[in-house]
Amino acid sequence: MIGGGIGGLTAAVALLQAGFDVHVYEQAPELTEVGGGINMAPNATRVLCRLGLAEGLDREGVRPLGTHQRRWQDGRTLQRAPLNPLCKELYGAPHMTIHRADLLSVIAAAFPVERVHLGHRLVGAADRGGGAEAWFDNGVRITADVLVGADGIHSAVRAALFGEEPPDFAGCVAYRGLVPAERIVALGLELGNQSWVGPGGHFVHYFVTRGRQLNFVGWTEHDEWNREDWTDRATVTRALAAFAGWHEQVRTIIAAAGTCFIWALFDRDPLPRWSAGRTTLLGDACHPMYPFMGQGAAMAIEDGAALAACLRAIADLSAALRHYEKLRLPRVTRLQEMSRANKTRFHLRDGPAQQARDAEWAKTGDRSPDALRWLYEYDPAAVEPVTA
Ligand SMILES: Cc1cc2nc3c(=O)[nH]c(=O)nc-3n(C[C@H](O)[C@H](O)[C@H](O)COP(=O)(O)OP(=O)(O)OC[C@H]3O[C@@H](n4cnc5c(N)ncnc54)[C@H](O)[C@@H]3O)c2cc1C
Repeated sequence: MIGGGIGGLTAAVALLQAGFDVHVYEQAPELTEVGGGINMAPNATRVLCRLGLAEGLDREGVRPLGTHQRRWQDGRTLQRAPLNPLCKELYGAPHMTIHRADLLSVIAAAFPVERVHLGHRLVGAADRGGGAEAWFDNGVRITADVLVGADGIHSAVRAALFGEEPPDFAGCVAYRGLVPAERIVALGLELGNQSWVGPGGHFVHYFVTRGRQLNFVGWTEHDEWNREDWTDRATVTRALAAFAGWHEQVRTIIAAAGTCFIWALFDRDPLPRWSAGRTTLLGDACHPMYPFMGQGAAMAIEDGAALAACLRAIADLSAALRHYEKLRLPRVTRLQEMSRANKTRFHLRDGPAQQARDAEWAKTGDRSPDALRWLYEYDPAAVEPVTA
């Protein structure tokens, strides 16, 4: 497994529990996650709970009571839906919000540390017929029966398989911050998710670290971005300027942040294939998506469960990888497309199209656990035994 992020480590745990001899090679000197919080919908938490991680998730995460979409300037409710305990009742697993670093450490605790090789940056890989070979910037070379690139949107494994192609800037940047809960007591926020939609941007906030911190992400559109770095410090003043004229609650939250980061969003078109011989990809390495369905990491987590199930069910390893790709491609492509469409829907200028969207949301909602049944009840490990 190349890459020890949320996707790579989950897949490694799933494969180990399925009886495979797995090693993870991570470029960083330690396992870390940048950024603040993440939403884990029930399709993702169900996979993690099956891997035995329920206790860790409950210890570190938050179970938001509901989700609430609001108008940017007057705070009017556009839609509201309960999340917990409904998700558990409907789908057998809760909806959770959690700090990314806490999520990664919960997953990492289930994988033996001696199988994680830190400080190994993959610089090349090749399929060798009955196996794959990979080499790293520290001079180490390895061979494996199966090589999996879980090395994120800038994937070196993907480049080795299908050629180098830079990702596209998505025309959006995010201001991200964490606010100690005691600084915003006066807002009287319930333990839930809120998202505010407005012209050219939207703003999302939810609690993490057992309710001790509020995580926020404020998206605004930008024509160009010429920095290579994904993360950079931003000032609270700059974030406030980006949300000038927005509701007082949004501005109070930004103003209460200690530090604020800016994050440029990149994207790739869906790939027609992910596997070649004994090498495959998972997570952002093969299907990065805008985070506007809150499903990027969830899809990486599902990939891991599906990959382990395919490799267990199908004896021919190359055929197992092809089957994994066939199972996963339609679902992640659908989510990539829905996430792109949400960028337009969330950022409509005030006018007839925005009014039509608001009327539709008021009628049907789009975030209620019922409306997302197709997404939440799916079982990525349900693989029929197949002969090659
Ligand atoms: C602002 C924002 C909010 C988001 N919110 C959500 C959300 O609420 N819910 C959700 O499900 N998703 C969300 N996502 C998406 C989610 O963060 C990603 O889809 C997810 O992190 C992808 O995981 P991954 O393991 O595939 O890749 P990554 O997390 O990018 O991990 C890749 C790993 O590979 C390592 N690596 C890279 N190159 C090499 C190399 N050459 N050699 C060795 N190791 C290497 C990296 O160091 C890293 O550890 C959000 C994304 C953004 C930007």
